[in-house]
Amino acid sequence: MKNREAEIRYRERRKQMYRERREKLIAALGGKCCECNSTENLEFDHPFGRDWIARQKARWHRIVLYEGDQKAGNLRLLCSNCNKVLLPLFGDDL
Ligand SMILES: [Zn+2]
Repeated sequence: MKNREAEIRYRERRKQMYRERREKLIAALGGKCCECNSTENLEFDHPFGRDWIARQKARWHRIVLYEGDQKAGNLRLLCSNCNKVLLPLFGDDL
């Protein structure tokens, strides 16, 4: 059963890493929707599009890609309402 415990710990660490980096990234992007200033139900949005598909990536991997997009100036925060209005098909869950 040791491997199972190690696997669970590993997953927990990744979850923790995801949460911490997500919080940092949201703070770096101003912590609110860039359209309406809402701080609720925030989603990442790529104003210039992107070449990867969120649903095909694990969350911990997504956050790494988001960080890269942010460094490249291709990431902003939208609340789910504004994101739906602007991009009905491509919203990411955080
Ligand atoms: Zn908004």
